[in-house]
Amino acid sequence: MEKVLRGRTITKVDQRRPNLRVPFPATLKRDLTGYKIETLGRRAKYILMQLENGKVMILHLGMSGRVLLIPPGKKYEPEKHDHLILDFDDRSKMVFNDARRFGMVLLDDENGLEKNPAFAGMGPEPLDNSFSAPVLAAALENKKTSIKAALLDQRVVAGLGNIYVSEALFHAGIHPERIAATVTHAESEKLVKAIRKVLNEAIAAGGSTLKDYRHADGELGYFQHHFAVYDRAGQPCPGCRCDISKSKGIRKMTQGGRSTYYCPEKQV
Ligand SMILES: [Zn+2]
Repeated sequence: MEKVLRGRTITKVDQRRPNLRVPFPATLKRDLTGYKIETLGRRAKYILMQLENGKVMILHLGMSGRVLLIPPGKKYEPEKHDHLILDFDDRSKMVFNDARRFGMVLLDDENGLEKNPAFAGMGPEPLDNSFSAPVLAAALENKKTSIKAALLDQRVVAGLGNIYVSEALFHAGIHPERIAATVTHAESEKLVKAIRKVLNEAIAAGGSTLKDYRHADGELGYFQHHFAVYDRAGQPCPGCRCDISKSKGIRKMTQGGRSTYYCPEKQV
């Protein structure tokens, strides 16, 4: 997105319904139209589009949201779930499509971002240097919840969802039901490495969760790229020494209403 959108000026904002998960900001058209995009970034699960007027459009893809970039002059007709269409000075477009409408579009001032309710109290970015084994260990120290719930808590670490937590716990060899406070410093070290590995692989593969996931340019993503355990109940775990005749392969359980997949032998 950054490669295509940086430096573009928004010439038209076509908002095609009043709300997604929450109402669109009342000033969206006024704050976007006529302004240049300075940078694109990300915080946790939010895409940040920073404009020259000091405003930031904050975009959350929800469950099924996707961004399509339409090249200059390419024929485009809005589809049913195209909810927001931005036109640019080079006659290209950006389309936000979201069939289930769990996505969100918010606006804020660039200097007020950390105070925005979406980000207030949010933990470190897992791929930043500010996230480390000592930082994670300190965050887990007094937590009486399961390690799975702790890693989904955005105050501990930002941006991890259900699939990536399952995967990271498998790679780190930690049982998802372990009480967070019992995770040792050595295990925090393994977890930090595992979280980064899982996220970097997912980013390289272009996203992961839904069958209709597409890249920003409209190409299909490599959905569900080789997960180690997620959605693989009963199958052997990759690179694991467990005996499948005894372990019956990868197990599935429900934790806090969400599916967790794990190896009962490797993860203790
Ligand atoms: Zn195993």
